[in-house]
Amino acid sequence: MATVNASSTCAEVLANARRVVIKVGSSLLADAQTGVLRHDWMASLAQDLAALSRVDTEFLMVSSGAVAIGRGALDFPDGALALEQKQAAAAVGQPILAGAWARAFAPLGLVTAQALLTLEDTEDRRRWLNSRATLEALLAQKAVPIINENDTVATDEIRYGDNDRLAARVAQMSGADVLILLSDIDGLWSADPNRQRDAHHIPFVAELSDEVMAMAEGPNPGTNLGSGGMITKLMAARMAVQNGCAVILSSGLYDHPIKALMTGAQATLFAPSASITDARKGWIAGAIKPVGAVHVDAGAVRALGTGASLLPVGMTACTGDFTRGDVLAILDTTGKEIGRGLAAYSANEATQICGLRSKEVEQKLGYSARAAMIHRDDMVLLNKDKDQ
Ligand code: GLU
Repeated sequence: MATVNASSTCAEVLANARRVVIKVGSSLLADAQTGVLRHDWMASLAQDLAALSRVDTEFLMVSSGAVAIGRGALDFPDGALALEQKQAAAAVGQPILAGAWARAFAPLGLVTAQALLTLEDTEDRRRWLNSRATLEALLAQKAVPIINENDTVATDEIRYGDNDRLAARVAQMSGADVLILLSDIDGLWSADPNRQRDAHHIPFVAELSDEVMAMAEGPNPGTNLGSGGMITKLMAARMAVQNGCAVILSSGLYDHPIKALMTGAQATLFAPSASITDARKGWIAGAIKPVGAVHVDAGAVRALGTGASLLPVGMTACTGDFTRGDVLAILDTTGKEIGRGLAAYSANEATQICGLRSKEVEQKLGYSARAAMIHRDDMVLLNKDKDQ
């Protein structure tokens, strides 16, 4: 991927892409009232993507819509559904969705594949590698992976809930260089243009700073049917860019949305920051829900900044029921997350050794132990803009 900067266009970024993930939101796919699929729109998107693949750009699709389609088919009332109703709706809607995509791509000579993932498939390193191998095998055969969360089995505590972050994880898993989040808004705005007359469209985001994240207070796309809003889109964008993947947030409200991007439609382009070049560290940083957290003192924050491992002496507390190897959030004295890493001790052990020096750790636990709570090789500091 060539360098992306403020003068880059979405068309150039797409033309240079080797592998693209396209996330399609529920509100684009299904009628808000009836849940009936928009087959013509799907066919137009399939045609655009087939055109990409003719120039050797591989693509994967993350498609929402299972719940939206299923709730119509099951005659569930409008409004929020209970978890088991969502699961039931997804069980009905998912096969209809997968069938519709298969029919959209078939006339173009492309075979589709349904891949349903749960949070555990992306958060457990072994399952992550297995899922990745399957996606690679599909792409090698020029099949189109159509990915969704396995909503029928995913329960609240262990689900993504929105497909934006799932799409960012899929982009990372597949080593994509572009992630397109197709939604019902033409990108990021400084504030909600429907409510604030001076709101302006942001065509390019060099860095997803806190100031940019605060713009998510603005328009909230996809609220009718889907689960994501602007905030999940920006969180997804942040996950993707830190793994070197450019992100395009654009509208899918009209037919041929990718062709429109290629011909200059308004959108927001997020530059890849490539701050994490190590794939394993990228996986740690992108963890959706760290299993626990470790609070550290000011001295430890400084030491981590110079590349040191996190030692028990720098820990003030830890929370969560984690075991060795789980992803932990590292929190500073104000409770702000400053990094992530893999636990070298279980929660039970970690609680006992908070604030202890190495010798004391050994005495306390009664066995010769690892020096670090989180080794520097297993750690990623967030908002650090150089290679780690
Ligand atoms: N996985 C959900 C579905 O297929 C959608 C989640 C979302 O709206 O982002 O219905």
